[in-house]
Amino acid sequence: MDSIAFGRSIGLEAYLGALLETLPDMLLVLDCEFRTLAINPAGLAAIGAGSLDEARGLKLAALMSPQDIAALRASFDTALLGPDEPAAPVCVTITCADKTECVLECRLARLVGAAGKVEGVLIRAQDITACLAASRDAEDNTALVRAVLATVPSAMVVTDEHGRITLFSSAAQEMFGYREDEVLGRNVSLLMPSPHREAHDGYIARYLETGERRIIGIGRVVEGLRKDGSVFPTELSVGEARSGEHRAFTGFHRDLTTQIETEASLHRMQSELAHASRLSAVGTLASALAHEINQPLAAIANYLSAGQELLDADRPNAREIVRDALEAAANEALRAGQIVHRLRGFVSKGEVDSEIFSLKELIDEAATLGLVGTRAKSVDFQVVIDPEVDCVVADRIQIQQVLVNLMRNAVEAMEQSPVRRIVVHALPSGEDRVELVVADSGPGIAPALVGELFKPFTGTKRKGMGLGLSICRTIVEAHGGKLTVEPSEAGGTQFRFTVLRALPDAPLGF
Ligand code: ADP
Repeated sequence: MDSIAFGRSIGLEAYLGALLETLPDMLLVLDCEFRTLAINPAGLAAIGAGSLDEARGLKLAALMSPQDIAALRASFDTALLGPDEPAAPVCVTITCADKTECVLECRLARLVGAAGKVEGVLIRAQDITACLAASRDAEDNTALVRAVLATVPSAMVVTDEHGRITLFSSAAQEMFGYREDEVLGRNVSLLMPSPHREAHDGYIARYLETGERRIIGIGRVVEGLRKDGSVFPTELSVGEARSGEHRAFTGFHRDLTTQIETEASLHRMQSELAHASRLSAVGTLASALAHEINQPLAAIANYLSAGQELLDADRPNAREIVRDALEAAANEALRAGQIVHRLRGFVSKGEVDSEIFSLKELIDEAATLGLVGTRAKSVDFQVVIDPEVDCVVADRIQIQQVLVNLMRNAVEAMEQSPVRRIVVHALPSGEDRVELVVADSGPGIAPALVGELFKPFTGTKRKGMGLGLSICRTIVEAHGGKLTVEPSEAGGTQFRFTVLRALPDAPLGF
């Protein structure tokens, strides 16, 4: 740029006057001896001078450090004597009238008069204190963001509105196996397996168009894809940040692999415990079961030998009598077979987790084992199922185990009772559960056991381990229910628990 030159028609004073008044920056005109010729109101206000004369009277040393004076002087000399190129800006710090420090960026240009004579130097000083503070703040913020990204324990992935990754925390690098520079600027779908990978841009577009939130602010369990191609479960919470026109999406990932493995192993242990308890229950039932199976076998033997005798005697109506005897024998064989079949199911490991089944069938099956050996004791057994709730979703064998346990306990408690009645009720509970109630007419819970009943190794039976109810409670809780006890209407005890109802489109799992 050329040095400023003034035409003849408008004098130096007029130019300077207009400049001095209108520009918000501080303007100072120095003559060739570094003396103040003019200063604008902004300059006067900054240094606390009321007039040009007062400004002239101020010592430079009172305003700035010797280094800054030297730098300004050097720039002045360059502007004055140097070529026509403007001198590089120089930054100085002045102590203002209000005692605050201002950083001024000074640009200097020489003033050449009408005759081509160098008249002095114009200094335009811009206060860049706020600007410097803002850029320092921005640097601090960047450093802070870096520190957060390096230390935040969750894997944090920030994307712009096009799904491009803009920040990738250290934990995210560890979780996904990518370095930050490998993912910055790439589409976040890189971290997802199919089909979400292909659909993700569509998800963002739909959100930007409709504003309908399906994951933002909600969070859900999704699948993550590592650099090595392995897929893992992660809990993803997505937030949205807006700054002016721009949006950023912040995603926090929590790797659920260990949690899911731990839950699976707990679930395995719980089901092994339940299995061990079923085996032990069958052990205590062994003699009653042997008796129960022996009866049909004895009856079959009787029917067969009676039939044989009839045939040997060659009686006229032998054919009909033998046919009836064979039918009765077949029924007894079926009954024995049914007990063995149910017993086999009961002691099986029960690998299937949850299935939909009919409560009526389940209660019938449980009663076969639960009421074993009670025929002679004449226990009155009733089942009342609300037709609305016949189908439930649960681990069939485990719920059967709970029912068998409650029925066995009831039978044993009622041994000395004049009236022996067990009623099993199934009724709706809330919107999606079924309540099962097993009530008896026994003596009620022994006072010493109240409040302790569900603790392991608690009981009044000589043979019992006192584990049955505690295992029942574990099973019911694993099904999202609660096992409770209270007096029954018949003066005995009743236990209540709930299981999930099979609604028409209910998902499997509890
Ligand atoms: P166990 O495995 O030894 O049968 P449980 O945990 O099933 O132990 O039962 C613990 C105790 O709870 C029993 O010893 C009994 O005293 C009491 N109990 C359970 N059910 C009933 C009931 N229906 N009526 C009265 N007492 C009961």
